[in-house]
Amino acid sequence: MKLRLALLSALAVAFCIAQAADQPKTASKSMSKPEIVKSETDWQKMLTPEQFQVTRMRGTERANGAAYEEFEKQGEGTYYCVCCGAELFTSKEKFHSGCGWPSFYDSSKAKGVLEKVDNSHGMRRIETVCKRCDAHLGHVFEGEGYKTPTDRRFCINGVALKFVPKGGDAPKLLEVSSAAVQQKKGEVAKEGGVEVKK
Ligand SMILES: [Zn+2]
Repeated sequence: MKLRLALLSALAVAFCIAQAADQPKTASKSMSKPEIVKSETDWQKMLTPEQFQVTRMRGTERANGAAYEEFEKQGEGTYYCVCCGAELFTSKEKFHSGCGWPSFYDSSKAKGVLEKVDNSHGMRRIETVCKRCDAHLGHVFEGEGYKTPTDRRFCINGVALKFVPKGGDAPKLLEVSSAAVQQKKGEVAKEGGVEVKK
């Protein structure tokens, strides 16, 4: 029995290592589902066609577009998720990368940005999404040689962000839908349960 337990633990450890190797270093350990879950139709009602295309359909806005021009002019302030109002970045981590999309070298202390491995389009990239509502924000690249404290470039679609100048009121956080609350409760109950694999 002890041997079997030891074997199981060894397997579990090996599995965790394999999982860890597949995850970006800074990715959240929690693979929990987003708090905000809405249908595509609901999101479509709340967002402009471009915001919907980028955040919910994982699109990319045109480089050097209108949103980027605005971003370049913005001063001190905070950037929130255009879908749910979660804090994502601040102007303190903003830098000029010359890539044509809003660039930050780090996410804000709010830790609202989740990093996920993205293997689409024949590339291995790290996608950044809003932790709260799973809105696609853009990608993060590292080791490109930028003279910033992290040498990471969060390459973000401007339309995915809502900017609030310093001193302004933060947008109202989108409330968690009751269906999502129920689902979350169900998951917690399962995780906390005593179900043991044989
Ligand atoms: Zn969000």
